[in-house]
Amino acid sequence: MRNLHAAVPCLDNLQRPLHDLRISVTDRCNLRCTYCMPCEVFGRGFVFLRHAELLSFEEIIRVARQCVALGVRKIRLSGGEPLLRHGIERLVEMLAELRTNDGKPVDLAMTSNGTLLAKKARALKDAGLTRLNISLDALDEAIFRRMSGDRVPPGAVLEGIAAAQEAGLTPVKVNAVVKRGVNESEILPLVRHFRNTGVIMRFIEYMDVGNTNGWRLDDVVTAREILARIDHEHPLVPIEPDAPNEVAERWAFQDGSGEIGVIASVSHAFCHTCSRLRLSTDGKLYTCLFATEGVDLRALLRTRSVPSSDETTLRQRIAATWHYRTDRYSQQRHEMTEALPGRIEMSYIGG
Ligand code: SAM
Ligand code: SF4
Ligand code: SF4
Repeated sequence: MRNLHAAVPCLDNLQRPLHDLRISVTDRCNLRCTYCMPCEVFGRGFVFLRHAELLSFEEIIRVARQCVALGVRKIRLSGGEPLLRHGIERLVEMLAELRTNDGKPVDLAMTSNGTLLAKKARALKDAGLTRLNISLDALDEAIFRRMSGDRVPPGAVLEGIAAAQEAGLTPVKVNAVVKRGVNESEILPLVRHFRNTGVIMRFIEYMDVGNTNGWRLDDVVTAREILARIDHEHPLVPIEPDAPNEVAERWAFQDGSGEIGVIASVSHAFCHTCSRLRLSTDGKLYTCLFATEGVDLRALLRTRSVPSSDETTLRQRIAATWHYRTDRYSQQRHEMTEALPGRIEMSYIGG
């Protein structure tokens, strides 16, 4: 299909281009991180989406193809735990075939809790995955179990990280959400553990996503505080971001033993460069992590279940969703006195 948008970036209401697509491939997870899917809420009685409600791989590809035609260059698979989606390697393979408007493969990344990676890393690499972020909040077993719902030891994630490195999914980035009084004591052990290994350790400020994690500003350890602690033991120098819309601030160890990153989503909002569109597991488009409503694409996809050679309606719906976007929640957060009700959960929208 001829691409009418090749030379014209798809801009939102605040002139931000559409650049990234995050796809949540499942709302289920084998962990119960307290800040994301606390077990008191996501327990036995919780009703997850039924299989028929999920977008099929073919439906995901149809949406992704139109997003790429509108300027998306980077796609990240997330969830829930993306490795729980049956046949995920096949979806990676299908996405890896997409080409950007200038003929390049899309940058195809995944965020995973790593627990199932030891078995899957090689297949994901062979299928065309280019990058992998793995979440690990603590090395200390008791702290890790406390934060992740007491289902597996941290060794399971470390095995996954090793498998990813062996498979060549490098540089592996390891993400830790830091919660005051819970795992702040793990910042330095994590830095020490991954220095000199090629793994890039990144620390994320605990965010007020969803309605279930009981977020309080007091629980946030700011990026400045995290950096100060690391710099005290391992002097740091700032380095250039990977890309203009990169959310992580990058810092290198002065002694050349690697780099770390901090993601200051709460204390230093980056809404002004936010170029991410999110596709939920059941096919809704969200223009912000903190959005309360999404645009249903599944109904449209299923009206015409066979992809047509002309997917103009689908593309127009996506473009219009982006054009009307005004989101800048994190920048506005400071002005808010209390959390807004009715937000959607990160495990559903894809973190
Ligand atoms: N299950 C995968 C994982 O944990 O990497 C992918 C989905 S998870 C929702 C994506 C990322 O969101 C993880 O790095 C997780 O730590 C982060 N996350 C979840 N809830 C968060 C919160 N309240 N604040 C900051 N980061 C959060
Ligand atoms: Fe699962 Fe990831 Fe959420 Fe933890 S952060 S509960 S691993 S989806
Ligand atoms: Fe983007 Fe919304 Fe996060 Fe701001 S709050 S950076 S607009 S996802």
